Amino acid sequence: ADILMKTEGLTKHYPVSSGIWSRSTQKVHALDDVNLTLYRREIVGVVGESGCGKSTLAKVLLRLIEPTDGTIYFDGQNITALDRKQMQGIRRQMQFIFQDPFSSLNPRNKVIDLISEPLDIFKVGTRKEREQRVYELLETVGLSRNHADRYPHQFSGGQRQRIGIARALALNPKLVICDEPVSALDVSVQAQILNLLQDLQEQFGLSYLFIAHGLDAVRHISNRIAVMYLGKLVEMGDSEQLFTRPQHPYTQALISAIPEIGLKQEAKPFKLTGEIPSPINPPAGCRFHTRCPYTVERCKSEVPELTTSENGHAVACHLV
Ligand code: SF4
Ligand code: MG
Repeated sequence: ADILMKTEGLTKHYPVSSGIWSRSTQKVHALDDVNLTLYRREIVGVVGESGCGKSTLAKVLLRLIEPTDGTIYFDGQNITALDRKQMQGIRRQMQFIFQDPFSSLNPRNKVIDLISEPLDIFKVGTRKEREQRVYELLETVGLSRNHADRYPHQFSGGQRQRIGIARALALNPKLVICDEPVSALDVSVQAQILNLLQDLQEQFGLSYLFIAHGLDAVRHISNRIAVMYLGKLVEMGDSEQLFTRPQHPYTQALISAIPEIGLKQEAKPFKLTGEIPSPINPPAGCRFHTRCPYTVERCKSEVPELTTSENGHAVACHLV
């Protein structure tokens, strides 16, 4: 199949500053050796607890922050090698939808200016054409041109997220990175926004990287799901397969926690106990070994490699 984006060994470590006088050698392992592939017109869900590195992944992919190591390919090009100016052109093709639409929209700007900003930056068309494009985008996301002269505070959370989506689509991107786009919305509104995102994906042949805290949030929208734990990709595969036959103990635990689905999985359900360890100097070997019920000696020292089986399902566990 046709690859849109691919990462190889993507790593991001932050130095830990523990006071101005100390030169700490400790590092936050936000992302470690992540190999991820996204095909054209595909929706990949990325899930994991807070601090697993999923938001860092989003920012590194957009090169809003620079990776410590590794390579990102986008549309056949190594974008990690591009300078700022060259990266500008790529940014047209990769857009971002944030968790909280209110904080990402400047409250002093009218909707028309907010949606037209990316078009203005790239000097797309004439002023009149840009205005026309904004009206069209408003309708595409289920709002109307009558909304163009209003301010963000005059809209509900769901409507603001629609404005955020219109803005992200303004430049006809190939990829949209959605960082928990519905988690700040009322449950009743979440489904509407998810349906809208799904319709737009089909209509414009988009690819999404869809980041969420929990597996249930990405279940229906994703073709494939990637599960992250403490900066590592631990399992990735077809959505349905991942839900019915999760292979990694961490994925099994996440699924066990979803009431109506947990019992249907073929794996033995278990409850996740203990806190997620700090990403500063994370556990050696398999990072999940401090919480895994199947830990053997080897897990404490040897890092399990992410291994892909014939059906394309990838798991990083010594026992699989
Ligand atoms: Fe558990 Fe070991 Fe597998 Fe890690 S490698 S998930 S500790 S069994
Ligand atoms: Mg986050």
